[in-house]
Amino acid sequence: MTNIVRLPDITHINFELLRVSGVTNLFTDIESTLAPYGDSQIDPYTAEFLESQRAVGNIATISLITNRRDPAFAKHMAEQLGADAYLCPTSKDHRKPAPHMLHEAARMLGVSISSAVMVGDKLTGDMHAARSAGVPYAVWVDRLGSTDHPGDRYLRRPYERLHKRRYPDRLLIPIG
Ligand SMILES: [Mg+2]
Repeated sequence: MTNIVRLPDITHINFELLRVSGVTNLFTDIESTLAPYGDSQIDPYTAEFLESQRAVGNIATISLITNRRDPAFAKHMAEQLGADAYLCPTSKDHRKPAPHMLHEAARMLGVSISSAVMVGDKLTGDMHAARSAGVPYAVWVDRLGSTDHPGDRYLRRPYERLHKRRYPDRLLIPIG
């Protein structure tokens, strides 16, 4: 069972509360979650927040999990955060919503899926991946930045808008 909540952005997550529940490993999407789409710099406020959460021990590890098939990009983003792992799909079957990269991150870091929280801006990719991987918590954040990949703009975002209208409550979101 994955508990899914919706928050404006990653800096609204109470990592101290997650730590109390034994959840200290952060799995996060990159584009539109940590940086605006098309941007290769982590949002400074986000970077500062995550660093402070690590410093006090609320976050033990950070794994960046992206569907973008560009390891150089993922590495560049990971370095800015001092992330412990970054994963890109090596085959089409490994793309989110498949759970593959989340399981792979847990394996690489030697951490349990039950100690992880997944964060991302895509209902159809990130939240479904979280659920199929079996992470206990997932946070669906609003898109960071003002642009989208064209496929997202015309297909996924309209679906997400309908979903938000149908389930305006931000807690315990059913994802179908
Ligand atoms: Mg994204």
